[in-house]
Amino acid sequence: MDIRIEKTTSPKVHPDPNTLGFGEVFTDHMFMMDYSKKEGWHDAKIVPYGDLVLSPAACVFHYGAEVFEGMKAYRTPDGDVQLFRPMENIRRLNNSAERLCLPQIDEDLALEVLTKFVEIEKDWVPAKKGTSLYLRPFLIATDAKLGLHAIDEAKYVIIASPVGSYYKEGINPVKIMIETEDVRAVRGGTGYAKCGGNYAASNRAAAKAEEKGFSQVLWLDGVERKYIEEVGAMNVMFKIDGKVKTPKLIGSVLPGITRKSCIDLMKSEGQDVEETFITVDEVIDALKAGKLEEAWGCGTAAVVSPIGLLSYEGVDYVINDGKIGELTQHLYDELTGIQWGEKEDKFGWTLKV
Ligand SMILES: *Cc1c(COP(=O)(O)O)cnc(C)c1O
Repeated sequence: MDIRIEKTTSPKVHPDPNTLGFGEVFTDHMFMMDYSKKEGWHDAKIVPYGDLVLSPAACVFHYGAEVFEGMKAYRTPDGDVQLFRPMENIRRLNNSAERLCLPQIDEDLALEVLTKFVEIEKDWVPAKKGTSLYLRPFLIATDAKLGLHAIDEAKYVIIASPVGSYYKEGINPVKIMIETEDVRAVRGGTGYAKCGGNYAASNRAAAKAEEKGFSQVLWLDGVERKYIEEVGAMNVMFKIDGKVKTPKLIGSVLPGITRKSCIDLMKSEGQDVEETFITVDEVIDALKAGKLEEAWGCGTAAVVSPIGLLSYEGVDYVINDGKIGELTQHLYDELTGIQWGEKEDKFGWTLKV
């Protein structure tokens, strides 16, 4: 497909790499492509970053027909720019879209437009240690009809934001509250899809946890509040008595690419990893018996985030003296090493742009 390119005539001043936050400043351009049932995907273009014009009746505003992705472009020591397992994000975008009845995007086309966009914005990939260019592809239904109906029109957009290191003052283990009322997702619902609605459903518990001084909540299953699913917007892993356990992908858990990479990495190194059902009781019992060695969340933004404390039914349990564990640190070093091109990519996970 032809991608029309319209370069900005007023390039922005790049922000100071020392003060970068997360998703606050955006690059000069954005990618856009339209879908209609009749024409399929068409009108692909990279244009100056700016507001979208949509009908107030657009389906996305009323019925939440939206899916998104989150990934990063990294600056290597040689000054090159690379992506990490981008095809995984593209496949997940299509799986999410399928769940919400949004149109599919051909995988090769999606990779082509993504790499073209990153190429145009290459100068925006910061070089300072720990920084990257965060990419946010999203797909929305734009039909201007309030009646519930199949989606006929959609828009695919990619925006980009230079982001700072997640860990400005070293990796600090976080305090997590186990949520026993609200649930994020249920089996048969949209838990495995990266859709905005899942986040909207998470807001209340996250706000409550924050008010009580916790960074995030640990989500339990939607039926029995018995099985562990995720932590905040990250997947979760536990090292219990030498063995790593992580919740199985049963439909309510988001299939994280960091999760998958942690599993691949650990297995390649001979570490026992089990994707299984994990009950909250099992974790609390392991904590009481001193057998819960490490716990961490994993996702693109933080890579890994050690859990230093778990609070359940009003009781606080400290993990590993509130310090980062050896395996958590190792996973962080290995994954970031590959992502930023500082370590050999034995798995062929990176793609130079
Ligand atoms: C995006 C996301 C993750 C992490 O996925 P990555 O591909 O590793 O970034 C985990 N849980 C939820 C709910 C998410 O939205």
